Amino acid sequence: MTVKQLFEKIRNAKYNTALTGAGVSTLSGIRDFRGKNGLYNEMDAEKIFDISYFKKDPSFYYKASASLIYGLDEKTPSIVHNVLAELEKQGYLKALITQNIDLLHEKAGSKNVIEIHGSPRIHYCMRCSGGNNPEVCMPFDEAAKIVLAGGLPKCPKCASILKPDITFFGESLPVNALRDATIESQKSDLMLVLGTSLTVFPAASMPQYTLRHGGEIVIVNNMSTPMDSEAVFRFDDLEEVFCEIKELLFLHKN
Ligand code: ZN
Repeated sequence: MTVKQLFEKIRNAKYNTALTGAGVSTLSGIRDFRGKNGLYNEMDAEKIFDISYFKKDPSFYYKASASLIYGLDEKTPSIVHNVLAELEKQGYLKALITQNIDLLHEKAGSKNVIEIHGSPRIHYCMRCSGGNNPEVCMPFDEAAKIVLAGGLPKCPKCASILKPDITFFGESLPVNALRDATIESQKSDLMLVLGTSLTVFPAASMPQYTLRHGGEIVIVNNMSTPMDSEAVFRFDDLEEVFCEIKELLFLHKN
């Protein structure tokens, strides 16, 4: 199995999608929350993203995640983010399902991104609720400015501290995103499974939906996954694979 064969598979697929996990973000210098060198091992990270704790003291989340989430402006998309955006642009990728909450796929230019663990793109008021009501929503950039200056983003109506739309522990995952991700997975005749250990559900179900509907999966991850034996191609090194895909894309274009 070569990357060239993988590239041909991508080009010939009718409906290719990707599922990305923490391994894609770590290439941009973002710490893995759960992995081997994950944040959870050394700090109160469980507490940062715990909904009952957030309700008690939302300032803890904002203080603890200031650089982690709101300093993301300094982070740039990796070669994997960039090549995935280019694949979509050239019509070789229909949808991108991600477990990451760092907005780097959007930053790289990907359009059809489904964030199954939520997103800090918006902040909403839990009290006035209606997460879709623009009156009580604050976009990431505005919230980041406040948080990085040491403040707390507050509801303009009731002055409650806003919550990011990231899915916290103790909250259910976003229903619409999960539905969309499931539909895309079932439609896929090829799914690229990138930088995820496939141990967190329901993300880990997505490639199973693809297989069950007759599609194929490709796994690129630096650790083994429970679905390795079911992958049509299996690679270890994300950076290496995507460098080569980038070259092949370039050659193919010219
Ligand atoms: Zn409010």
